[in-house]
Amino acid sequence: MNSYPRYGQPCGWNALLPPRRASQTLSGARSAAVAIIGAGYTGLAAARRWAELRPQDEVVVLDAATVGEGSPGRNSGFMLEIALADDADASAVARMNTMNALCRDTMGALKALVSEHNIDCRLEHLGTYRAAATAQGLAGLAAYEAFLKAAQLPYERLDRGALRTRLGTAYYEGGLYSPDCYLVQPAALIRGLADALPSNVTLFEHSPVLKLQRQGPNWAVRTEGGQVRAPIVLLANNGYAGALAGGALGRGVGAVTPVFTFAGLTEPLSAEDRALLGSDPAWGVLPAHRLGTTLRLTSDHRLLVRSFYDDRFPADENPLRDGLQDALDRRFPELAARGATRLAQHWGGATGITFNGTTFFGPVQRGLYAAAGCNGGGVVKGSLFGRLMVDQALGQLEVDVRGLFGHPPWLPPNPFRHWGFQWLTRRWRRSAGAEL
Ligand SMILES: Cc1cc2nc3c(=O)[nH]c(=O)nc-3n(C[C@H](O)[C@H](O)[C@H](O)COP(=O)(O)OP(=O)(O)OC[C@H]3O[C@@H](n4cnc5c(N)ncnc54)[C@H](O)[C@@H]3O)c2cc1C
Repeated sequence: MNSYPRYGQPCGWNALLPPRRASQTLSGARSAAVAIIGAGYTGLAAARRWAELRPQDEVVVLDAATVGEGSPGRNSGFMLEIALADDADASAVARMNTMNALCRDTMGALKALVSEHNIDCRLEHLGTYRAAATAQGLAGLAAYEAFLKAAQLPYERLDRGALRTRLGTAYYEGGLYSPDCYLVQPAALIRGLADALPSNVTLFEHSPVLKLQRQGPNWAVRTEGGQVRAPIVLLANNGYAGALAGGALGRGVGAVTPVFTFAGLTEPLSAEDRALLGSDPAWGVLPAHRLGTTLRLTSDHRLLVRSFYDDRFPADENPLRDGLQDALDRRFPELAARGATRLAQHWGGATGITFNGTTFFGPVQRGLYAAAGCNGGGVVKGSLFGRLMVDQALGQLEVDVRGLFGHPPWLPPNPFRHWGFQWLTRRWRRSAGAEL
């Protein structure tokens, strides 16, 4: 397995932004109080937390990619303030309420950073729809509705007609609308968060970590051209944490595995095309099935579609582009007939997934900690776990993370992991039907 993600197509969100000069690449040897691997939501939240608690310390963050172009810029931009479908449990209201409060606080902190640093990332409080096209999808929605009801969270139930009026698609049988979600341009957000790091944090981009080794009281973090020695290392590299920790070290965090999912964006729709859509000027729809399709209408009038999963990045991305196009066209046939749904960009991105949808959080070995595997919801959850990982490393963790969020079970090594993934996703795809 690779120790970091590599992509074919550029990140579509990043391509919409002005060019950005990457910060330095690591070369030579240096020391730091802490080395953080991964400049995603988890890594940047960890860097900020450490820098704030220990302003005298030098904090080093290393990322394989350039910020905005890598995995954290490639997502669909949903920022959920409450439990995701994977976490939601109507029978555990007190636990859910604590979890929701932590997510809401984290969202509040991200909003404050966006406003304090004038991060131009189109962060909007639009809420989110969840929509189902099949009986199985409707059953999934009913389970989520039970959680919303039990936790006394606001929501609306919508039938096909109401969804059509608001979104302009008659594809779905029914849906829920929950206001507890923000939508964002993810590449702009992660770029802004990286640029706003405190001054005692040094970020190295284009610096994939290839090896981690214990050297007396320190860890040696090696890249192709350099090395950082630090007594504490925080693994914030999501699905690749296990690959880097390796062997016996990676046994716990090896419960997280990289999985790729794919997305595409249209050009901005014309005013005539927009007239065929519904009354909401911008919106997001999450699927009701694990393998279902996500949709967005962005505030600059583009349609986004996200679907499909693979545990290996495909050599040929064209079939995926065709699949994404088909998923979008089936939902908006009138627009498709006018050529308005043609995808101008498509790309894949890696996330870290676990068998039961929980995140790995905790120590891996002396001085080595990991927070990895936020599945499809790491923008807010990663930001939360990054902060908590620092609290744990500094001996001041006050949240029972595993008690609240659960813990992932062991996954078999490859090739059994790959075969298991392929078998399960084939089965789930068959059951997903029109949710795809
Ligand atoms: C297409 C797509 C749509 C998604 N939609 C959403 C959504 O709408 N909302 C949501 O909350 N989540 C979504 N997700 C998931 C979300 O992107 C992740 O959960 C989130 O980015 C996790 O944050 P993270 O910081 O833990 O990890 P990542 O964002 O994956 O960041 C890890 C970083 O580590 C770096 N890295 C990896 N290996 C190494 C190495 N060896 N050396 C140095 N650096 C390394 C990577 O380059 C990367 O920058 C989506 C994911 C994809 C792919």
